[in-house]
Amino acid sequence: MTSSTRENFQLALNFVPKSYLTQAIQASQHSAKQINLLLRQGKFPESGWSDVLIEEFLQQISTLDSNNFPHNVGVGEREARIFSSLVKARHWGLGHGIGRSGDLCASQPKAVGSSLLYNLTTSMVKDAIKAAGVPGAVDVVVLPCATGAALMLCLSSLAEVRPGSDLVVWLRCDQRSCFKAIYSAGLKPVVVDGMLSGDEVVSDVACVEALLSGSECKKIRAVVTTTSCFAPRAPDDIENIAVLCKQHDVPHVINNAYGLQSTKLMHRIKESARIGRVDIVIQSTDKNFMVPVGGALAFTFDEATAKRISGAYPGRASISPIMDLFMTLLSMGKERFLELRKERNDLKKLLDLELQALAERHSIRTLAAPNNPISTGVALPEGTAPKSATALGAMLFTRGVSGARVVTPGKSSSIGKTHFVGWGSHHKSYPVSYLTASASIGMTRSDVIGFIACLDRCLTEWRRKEPVPNSLTVQQNGNADANENSDQVHSLINNKHCIQDKENSNGLTSEE
Ligand SMILES: *Cc1c(COP(=O)(O)O)cnc(C)c1O
Repeated sequence: MTSSTRENFQLALNFVPKSYLTQAIQASQHSAKQINLLLRQGKFPESGWSDVLIEEFLQQISTLDSNNFPHNVGVGEREARIFSSLVKARHWGLGHGIGRSGDLCASQPKAVGSSLLYNLTTSMVKDAIKAAGVPGAVDVVVLPCATGAALMLCLSSLAEVRPGSDLVVWLRCDQRSCFKAIYSAGLKPVVVDGMLSGDEVVSDVACVEALLSGSECKKIRAVVTTTSCFAPRAPDDIENIAVLCKQHDVPHVINNAYGLQSTKLMHRIKESARIGRVDIVIQSTDKNFMVPVGGALAFTFDEATAKRISGAYPGRASISPIMDLFMTLLSMGKERFLELRKERNDLKKLLDLELQALAERHSIRTLAAPNNPISTGVALPEGTAPKSATALGAMLFTRGVSGARVVTPGKSSSIGKTHFVGWGSHHKSYPVSYLTASASIGMTRSDVIGFIACLDRCLTEWRRKEPVPNSLTVQQNGNADANENSDQVHSLINNKHCIQDKENSNGLTSEE
């Protein structure tokens, strides 16, 4: 308690009985202690704060920004004037944003409160990442943009350490924004298609090795792998790719979009960094911390890499996604965060068991994707027409199931100059139609049960309506094309054309 606060409380004795006041002061001291502990240690609090305390702290922080000084007169072009009182309230009067033009993490002299809020968020997030399984995470940049844009920024930030590089080796993951990030960073993608291993789509490590051993290695800005993805794609083999990146001295960026919620994926990242090279790990704030879309986290294993990311951000940034995360971390506390992750893990097991049983009831089967800790796939009967599969997806959606995806073979999609065959399945010729469902943080048991019940009814109805092939048994996928790229990979390393050309001859992607 400051001396002036203490004096004020003393003066209050003129108006209220001392015993009452003592009790009230003790209660307010408890709040002060929680704030004190946060400021002293900068740690993710063990238990969550009350909403009242969070608001109280935000009010205190707000008084530190110059636009809220009672004596302030602004004569600049940016004075954090907020017209709408609703908007002002929504931001607790913090109007200056974060960062300075040169660096996202630099403190803003006009906005001490906003800068404090940002740095405290960063510090708590670092603690959360360590608690989530990567104690070696040295630094983190909390970014005011979603994952795709964060990936773009991170790839740009690596220009300094890879002068003259313009290629990104990207292990195919059928999610548009992470791929667009490469083009938006002004770079050219080299797509490494997934391979089938049973039902699973797995990383073609041999192809990555061939690319890194090739004469064009110096032109590679980074290898981008993905951990969190829809089944039947498996998380990439980040351990072996990290080793290759270390051997060939090429940056390795991991797209861990919603992987921070998974103990298994975080463990694999820790291992990859231990045995090989991992430069930057990117994740979404909304997918991992239950905040509105708008932020991302990039953690690194050294300070210089983080500094380059924050330095690459052009200009000032919105405080909104940062404040959402700040308030959420304080509200949640570390214990609840770890508990939510455990609940998610248990619900993934329940989802798998329930889907297995449901599949048996309907004479279909789940796809074996044992390495995917978040998402599960269910194969639709062999020979299901794409239109019919899509009808099932629509049926689920209109009955209130969101997030279940139906994927049919034979779709294609172009992003930039790259044409993807088999879009949606992470593979150019995935043999069956399927539907996927994920167990993600915040999901409840009733979400699982409700989904299974709805899917059960929909499958029955769908069967009645849609012409389904007679044979309802779905064959196991063989290992047939597990090594289909290897011959082409060899021709690629011997080929002296640039990698972009090789990319075509390799059949990895086809440019339009
Ligand atoms: C969510 C996600 C992204 C990024 O999407 P944004 O809309 O930019 O947040 C990128 N890659 C993967 C695998 C994702 O799941």
